Amino acid sequence: MGVNSYMTADRNIWKSSKFCADCRLSVGNMTETGAPLDSAGAAARRRRPRDRRRPPPSPPTPSTPQRISTEQLAEALRPHLLSPKRMWAMGYPLEIDSTSSKAVVYINPPPRPRPLQLTTWDVNAPEFVPGGSQSDSGRGSLGSTPRSDSDEEADAVEHLCVRCDKMFRMTREGEYLVEETCSYHWGRVCGSDSRYTCCNMPLGSKGCSAARFHVWSGTRPGMNGPLEGYVRARSPRGGVYALDAEMCYTTAGLELASIAVIAADGRLVYKSLVKPSSPVVDHNTRFSGIRPRDLARATKTLRDVQNDILGFVGNDTILIGHALDNDLRALKLLHSAVVDTCALYPHSRGFPLRRSLRALSEELLGRSVQRGSAGHSPLEDARAAMDLVLLKVHEERASRARLSNQLPILQPYDPLVSSA
Ligand SMILES: [Zn+2]
Ligand SMILES: [Zn+2]
Repeated sequence: MGVNSYMTADRNIWKSSKFCADCRLSVGNMTETGAPLDSAGAAARRRRPRDRRRPPPSPPTPSTPQRISTEQLAEALRPHLLSPKRMWAMGYPLEIDSTSSKAVVYINPPPRPRPLQLTTWDVNAPEFVPGGSQSDSGRGSLGSTPRSDSDEEADAVEHLCVRCDKMFRMTREGEYLVEETCSYHWGRVCGSDSRYTCCNMPLGSKGCSAARFHVWSGTRPGMNGPLEGYVRARSPRGGVYALDAEMCYTTAGLELASIAVIAADGRLVYKSLVKPSSPVVDHNTRFSGIRPRDLARATKTLRDVQNDILGFVGNDTILIGHALDNDLRALKLLHSAVVDTCALYPHSRGFPLRRSLRALSEELLGRSVQRGSAGHSPLEDARAAMDLVLLKVHEERASRARLSNQLPILQPYDPLVSSA
């Protein structure tokens, strides 16, 4: 069995992502010589008496070279770049015009079933809510519903809690008008009987977790914008990178708290903690992996990180990620050359449903990510996204090679030979 080792110098990444050259099925963890790393295989090798009559196994014959340069990888990814229309539908920030750094974002209504709310979304709402320019912080939020008796009440905006689906109200300055416990399920709704993965209770049951405040995403379903504070690369720099960001809930919605960027060979290119600009309401540690003490030692602001990123990301650089729209919104980066593993490996029931990075990584790479209570690691998630993309490229190249080998060899027709 030949083993194709492809595209990377980082063997730690690839030890679990090598594939049988014949059947293209994952053959589990392997060493560089193609030997399985799993304990059962190791035990079998230990039990097997050594046969001295047999010659030592020859090293595996290198199969078709699979290593490709960053330029070749960029070329192979070109058909997978998201179109502006697709980016729009997926919630990517798009520029309003090429001269400004303002963005607009369209957020699809959540696909999961939600309990009935007192406030419903107005499907006839105008595309842009009056009020002019606003930031992604949600101040002047499109979801705002000023109503009231006092000045404070009149200035209130209403947000949807992304954990418990309740509406709650804040001042435009980010103060809660009513302190109300958020009772929620942190798990997803799964299975034919729609139960939460956190506690196995049915959809609509009382939350199994509680937090002091409700939290919101910083955007609302429908059109958001114009949003300020966005940046973009202006000149070409080439390259292919995978990026993952982790966010915390602040009074202004989800804000960037940590980011990691890796190159195609798995090399860490950039990593930083980020100080959110608004007061943190919930560190979201279960998912972000960010603890209060992490942010206490963060020194960089969003603006610092944007400048750092634009130091090596050009307008032609291909950025890879899983649900990268969330990361680019948090980073406030306008970028058009993106490959998203959500689109590369679509959900069986179609868009806008998305497969999780964890499920894709387990199924296709044979390794676990986002396990344990420590939360997500942006580095681990960026590597998983990069590996999923490299796997797709590898499979496409292998498929093309297989097809070309299967083509029948056509001989020139010679009636003299045929009639002989
Ligand atoms: Zn639960
Ligand atoms: Zn809530």
